[in-house]
Amino acid sequence: MLIKPGNSQIKRQLDIGEFGIHSGSNRTIYHIFDLFRNLFPDNIMVATFNLVETKLVSESDNSSEARNNSITSITRKFNSVFALDTMLVGKSETNVLGMLCISIIFALVVKQMGDRAQPVIDLFNILNNVVMRFVKVIMWCSPIGIFSLIGKQAIQMDDPGVTLRSLGLYCATVSVGLFTHSCLVQAVSYFVLARSNPFKFFRGIFQAYITALGTASSAATLPITSRCLEENNGIERKISRFVLPIGVTVNMNGTALYLAAATIFIAQVNEVPLGALEIVAVSLMATLAAIGTAGLPGGALATISMVVSALGLPIDDTTLIAKVDWLLDHQRTAVNILGDGFCAGILNNMNRRAAAQASPRS
Ligand code: ASP
Repeated sequence: MLIKPGNSQIKRQLDIGEFGIHSGSNRTIYHIFDLFRNLFPDNIMVATFNLVETKLVSESDNSSEARNNSITSITRKFNSVFALDTMLVGKSETNVLGMLCISIIFALVVKQMGDRAQPVIDLFNILNNVVMRFVKVIMWCSPIGIFSLIGKQAIQMDDPGVTLRSLGLYCATVSVGLFTHSCLVQAVSYFVLARSNPFKFFRGIFQAYITALGTASSAATLPITSRCLEENNGIERKISRFVLPIGVTVNMNGTALYLAAATIFIAQVNEVPLGALEIVAVSLMATLAAIGTAGLPGGALATISMVVSALGLPIDDTTLIAKVDWLLDHQRTAVNILGDGFCAGILNNMNRRAAAQASPRS
């Protein structure tokens, strides 16, 4: 927010539609309501292509069909306090959050069923492998796609300097943020909680760090992270094998930071002022979206719409940052890996200290 890389001129330069927003804290409250509504979709099939959104009646077509009676009593109460009129409408977009929530519940039930549910687990493992293969093929084609996108936009721009300056500043902002986070938050947390030297720890995990920088996939880096932690940093196998798979799935510091920065950038491009409530909403959503992000190259591009739409910003604008995403993807993946490593290190040292205290003095 201090650097303010978002420049509203770049929307005019790039071929992205105008956006009529009705910002304000009331609207943000509705986005938070929608967030919880979408968390528990009525129908899992519908959730794959539709999500629920509250619209202020003044900004909608006000048709009798759209103005259904489905608003909840809490929304109705809120409306009466703020003298607003709203309705719930379906939006043709994937309800990522709802699907994530149902998947977690589904997985818990499958796990509880034990061996009887093994065929279901096998089926999903195979489906996962199939999707991974698809992603690999698409990743091989992505440089051509990105080059074509940038080429097309560059030809159409009147003043490419403004766009390049703004996007350059945005990349620099995210890079500085990631670097600061690694040095100040992660390393200091490790120093305080593990009472150990973070630089020495970093040296041990360096190979995994470089691999994450190269592959932009924390999932692909997982075996190397595991080996570095166990062989170089002396982390107990049971701890690394417990922390890393969870960390790779849900602990994505770099991605969360990136998602928040990208959303604030889009808000600046649209000249939407962000107050304290919006910042809290962005932080909350970025953290949730990072949990839902796959540890794959460009994984955050699939979940950024969750954060952007939570603020009522135009999802189309994510194409602005998609052009430079590959550059930042490598950096945030390395920070994700570092976060997992430091967590395992902290847990290992705590465990060691607890064991030393528990054992009888000789
Ligand atoms: N590439 C990241 C990872 O694998 C995910 C993302 O932020 O896109 O951790």
